[in-house]
Amino acid sequence: MTEHTDAPRTGRSDHNRWLRDAPGTLGRVFAPVAGYGVTISSMFRPTVTELYPFEPAVLMPRYHGRHQLNRYDDGLEKCIGCELCAWACPADAIYVEAASNAPGEQYSPGERYGRVYQINYLRCIFCGLCIEACPTRALTMTHEIDELVGPTRTGLIYDKQDLLAPLPDGALATPHPMVEGTEDADYYRGAVTGPTQAQVDWVRSHRPDDPSLADAAPVPAPALSKEVVH
Ligand code: SF4
Ligand code: SF4
Repeated sequence: MTEHTDAPRTGRSDHNRWLRDAPGTLGRVFAPVAGYGVTISSMFRPTVTELYPFEPAVLMPRYHGRHQLNRYDDGLEKCIGCELCAWACPADAIYVEAASNAPGEQYSPGERYGRVYQINYLRCIFCGLCIEACPTRALTMTHEIDELVGPTRTGLIYDKQDLLAPLPDGALATPHPMVEGTEDADYYRGAVTGPTQAQVDWVRSHRPDDPSLADAAPVPAPALSKEVVH
């Protein structure tokens, strides 16, 4: 059995175990100018000055920028208003109010959606805990950094419309029914790949002037294999 000991591993006494070895004669001669070595060698390295904002900033792949509320491929919102992101936030920067979807006239799959969604960027520390807590991957963080400034404090409280992702290509604006025959779990599994003709027809009959109708690209309803859970 190894005996626990506080004895220094260097063999030095407790008193000076954190001290470095004393420099030799050459070390003492060049010590006053040693720092210039770093300066002079840096003069011959490539310039690393970034020209932001004239050129886009170079960000790491996992950089945490402005948040985004995502959508499914038929246009429904992924946020179900569960507030888990708000509870996970250490800075109390998120405010969510949920509401019930009217049957057949949905903003998100399932019963609830996020009616009010706000992020206060005066408080946010970009830690990413909120996106870890989100059960539907509704909330993610983008690489956008250059719009998080403004002349007013209220301008840095982003509302749902500021955070909502644009409609995917061919998708329909909400509200509209879920894809026929699907449940919310089918959306979570990624079974929905676009709006169906039935959804397009519903929007056309309820909002004939909806701009998203012009680019709507219906796809066949997914073939669903129902799992029986005992
Ligand atoms: S990134 Fe962190 S501080 Fe900002 S809203 Fe999310 S949990 Fe809160
Ligand atoms: S963003 Fe995610 S965690 Fe936050 S309320 Fe919406 S579904 Fe829930």
